[in-house]
Amino acid sequence: MNKEIIEKIQIAQGDITQLDVDAIVNAANTSLLGGGGVDGAIHRAAGPGLLTECRTLGGCPTGEARITRGYNLASRHVIHTVGPVYSGKPQDITLLTGCYRNSLQLAADNNLTSLAFPAISCGVYGYPIEAACKIAVDTTCSFLKTNPSIAKVIFMLFSPANLNVYEAYMRTLTKTSDK
Ligand code: ADP
Repeated sequence: MNKEIIEKIQIAQGDITQLDVDAIVNAANTSLLGGGGVDGAIHRAAGPGLLTECRTLGGCPTGEARITRGYNLASRHVIHTVGPVYSGKPQDITLLTGCYRNSLQLAADNNLTSLAFPAISCGVYGYPIEAACKIAVDTTCSFLKTNPSIAKVIFMLFSPANLNVYEAYMRTLTKTSDK
């Protein structure tokens, strides 16, 4: 893996709502009207203006993404994407790949240079973290290769266990880049 690409990726543990980036990505549901988990945390931290704007969007299909302002967040924007409910079928991979690719494309289209992702679908939606991590990182790396305008992508993991999975996967890529 290309070293310049890997250097644009950061792995961290904590609350994504606290990040000062151009956009944080929300693991939303198709209504875009709020929910539990990271979605609830983002709406609480952003304040009621976020829900008002989300109401104008008319929902979002699974695998796609929509952008709003960030309201009371330090982050300027929120990119709302809808991950698949894990089923074990091949379509899970296509849909989760779409979440990352479409979120990154929306960021590039809006001239955003830094964004942060949670582990989309890895909470209530039940996606196994190892498989989801590989999709998140591989999709991001291939997008960054053809879209150099994006300077920084943070994967913000809520649990130490998920952080370990991402760090282990990044180490395998770093090793390949040394060769
Ligand atoms: P999904 O419905 O897509 O599975 P969840 O919100 O249930 O979405 O979980 C997605 C991931 O986000 C989980 O790994 C969960 O631990 C994590 N998470 C929950 N709150 C936060 C937060 N404030 N910041 C970052 N990640 C969070």
